[in-house]
Amino acid sequence: MPDPAPLIDPFARAIRYLRVSVTDRCDFRCTYCMAEHMTFLPKAELLTLEELDRLCSGFVRLGVEKLRVTGGEPLVRRGIMTFFEAMARHLRSGALSELTLTTNGSQLARFARPLADLGVRRVNVSLDTLDPQKFAQITRWGRLAQVLDGIRAAQEAGLRIKINTVALKGFNEDELFALTEWCAREGHDLTFIEVMPMGEMGEDARLDRFWSLRDLRARLEERHTVTDLIERTGGPARYLRLEETGQKIGLITPLSHNFCESCNRVRLTCTGELYMCLGQEDMADLRAPLRAGAQLETPEEAEGLLERAIRDAILRKPKGHDFDYSRRVIRGQMPRHMSHTGG
Ligand code: SAM
Ligand code: SF4
Repeated sequence: MPDPAPLIDPFARAIRYLRVSVTDRCDFRCTYCMAEHMTFLPKAELLTLEELDRLCSGFVRLGVEKLRVTGGEPLVRRGIMTFFEAMARHLRSGALSELTLTTNGSQLARFARPLADLGVRRVNVSLDTLDPQKFAQITRWGRLAQVLDGIRAAQEAGLRIKINTVALKGFNEDELFALTEWCAREGHDLTFIEVMPMGEMGEDARLDRFWSLRDLRARLEERHTVTDLIERTGGPARYLRLEETGQKIGLITPLSHNFCESCNRVRLTCTGELYMCLGQEDMADLRAPLRAGAQLETPEEAEGLLERAIRDAILRKPKGHDFDYSRRVIRGQMPRHMSHTGG
């Protein structure tokens, strides 16, 4: 029988939230996330959709209640709805309280309705600008109209939408109010994210683009009464409310350490590497025990092997991370791209 005790790390944090990257590929090339010419993983390295199902189901048996599917762009993975269908059975059983995804929105026009039919209730859509030309510039390959169509389709399917906007100095500073007002009008939640030093992108001087959210907050105060909310989600977001619109706005400052003590999440890559902390390099390979389990005689033995590997990994979850801009290093300090660990 699987061990029913939940996953508790050495700092007494219960792990309830798994983010799983189902592909490293993407139909966009956002300048802060990817180089224009990326070398992607060979297909053989990727977990199959069936393996992803077995792996995520292992986490669900061990008490994970929230699953967020991300990438790369999750909706460009071939057959991805098969995986969502598989995970939806955990929603129906009540084991998962939430199944959700982070997407660039390009494929939502096609997938929003089937996702909603499976029980997905919310979707995070990344959108850094409302200007078609700037959108083409920052995503290199994306088209704004396609994403806005996707967002509309998601709205029509009844999905709640959260817009994720990376705060970029000299790029979308001038759209702060246009973006907040658009979200208020459309009824979308909005979260700003500080740009993180991820990946080796050479030419992209992200320090020049770094726009501190403290600064962004001060800009909001020029036009709004801003109230800090105490609500926390176990993640890096803090929330504030703009009293004039009643809007709740999230701020994700991943470089600060103030959320690590309540961190309830781990990240799985599309090759089965489990990162216990976004800001640390330590990871556990879960693909090997997953594949070794497939050779065992019974499904119970396979599940036992996988669950032991997951528990061992969680015991290595560090207390916190140590990003640091103070050394003024421009090239990424974390050799992984966000598209690898799934942001
Ligand atoms: N393709 C999907 C999307 O764009 O929403 C999911 C994967 S993407 C890696 C997840 C999130 O990470 C996006 O909101 C993106 O803006 C953010 N992101 C990517 N690179 C980042 C960086 N260097 N700093 C901060 N956020 C980043
Ligand atoms: Fe693709 Fe998302 Fe990265 Fe943009 S942020 S390149 S959409 S994975």
